[in-house]
Amino acid sequence: MTASLEFRQQLSDSPVPSARREEILAAPGFGKYFSDHMVTVTWTPEQGWHDAVVKPYGPLAIDPATAVLHYAQEIFEGLKAYRHADGSVWTFRPEANAARFQRSAARMALPQLPVDDFVAALDTLVRVDEAWVPSGGEASLYLRPFMFASEVFLGVRPARQVSFVVIASPAGAYFSEGVKPVSIWLSEDYTRAAVGGTGAAKCGGNYAASLIAQQEAIANGCDQVAFLDAVDRRWVEELGGMNLYFVYDDGQIVTPELGTILEGITREAIITLATEAGHKVEERRIGIDEWREGAASGRITEVFACGTAAVLTPVGTLRSREGELVMGDGTAGPVTTRIRRQLLDIQYGRTEDTYDWLHRV
Ligand code: PMP
Repeated sequence: MTASLEFRQQLSDSPVPSARREEILAAPGFGKYFSDHMVTVTWTPEQGWHDAVVKPYGPLAIDPATAVLHYAQEIFEGLKAYRHADGSVWTFRPEANAARFQRSAARMALPQLPVDDFVAALDTLVRVDEAWVPSGGEASLYLRPFMFASEVFLGVRPARQVSFVVIASPAGAYFSEGVKPVSIWLSEDYTRAAVGGTGAAKCGGNYAASLIAQQEAIANGCDQVAFLDAVDRRWVEELGGMNLYFVYDDGQIVTPELGTILEGITREAIITLATEAGHKVEERRIGIDEWREGAASGRITEVFACGTAAVLTPVGTLRSREGELVMGDGTAGPVTTRIRRQLLDIQYGRTEDTYDWLHRV
C-alpha cells in the first residue's frame, strides 16, 4: 500500500540559527529542545484523514472544552532517527511503531492512521529537519507522533475530530559516561494495568497513573519502578517505560508474556537477536518470588530493561519493603552488554542489517 496523504509544506521563515542548533546538538539532553517543524493531520468522520501539513513548530490552539483535556482520549509513540557514518539518516522499524499505534488507537476508540501515512509523516518531518539529526556518538533525533481528541465537546464519547501530530527532539546518548546499572523499586501498592484495561496501549493515562509509583521509587532511592500484575500482585510486568528480561545461568532468557504490558519494539528485536545467538527465549509469566530466589541463588545471572530510549539497561538492584537484592555482581553482565552492542551497531549502521529493520529516510 502506498501512502495516500500529501503533506503541504509551509516552511519556517525563522528557523533556529545554525550556530545555536549546533550548540543544542552538542548537549541536547532529552525532550528539552524541538526541531524547527512539526507535522499535523486532522481527522473527521466525514473527511477521514485530511489537511496534512508540515509547518513551523509552535503551540497548538486548544479550546478549554477540547475533549482530550477532560477524558484523555490520547495515544502516542516514540522512536528515533539515527545518522550513519556516511551521513544518511535511518529509522528503526517505523512500521512496527505504526502498527502499535493502530492497536493503541483501536483500544482508545480513535481512528486508525494507515501504516504508510504514519511512516510518511515521520519521513516528511525528518527530511525537512534533517539538520537536527545529530551525528557521532549515540545521539539521535527522537520522534514523538501522537493523536488526540481535538473536538470541542464535553460529552463522553469518541471524538468526532481528532488530531495527529509529529514533533522531533534531539536526544543525547542515554549513557554519556558509560553504561550504568539502574536500581529498581518494586511497586506493591500501585499497579499499572488490569486484564481488559489499557496496559498494552500506549496512552497518556497509563503514564499519568504510573507517576505516583515512580515518585515512591525516587523517595526510596531508586531510579525506576517495576509493576506487578493487578490480580495476584505476584507476576512481574514491566517498568514504567521499559520491558524486562531475565538471564539464567543455563543461558535461558525469560521475558514476561504479552497481555497487560506494552509490546516493546526493542523487546521483540531482542527475542530475535537472542534466539539467533543460541539462547532459549521464553515469553512466560515470571513471579516476583522467582526473581528474588533466582537473584539470591545466582540462578538468575543478569536482569536488564529495554526500550527505545536506553536500548538495553542493566538492572543492578531490586529494592522493596523487604530489603535489597543485587543482580549478579551489580554490573552490566556479558549477555546484556553483547545484545546491547549488537542492537546499537544495527541502528547506527556499523554492522549489516540482516533483518531489514532499518528504514532509510
Ligand atoms: N513499556 C513501556 C510502558 C513503555 O513506555 C515503553 C517505551 N515505549 C516500553 C515498554 C518499551 O517499548 P519500545 O521498545 O517500543 O520503546
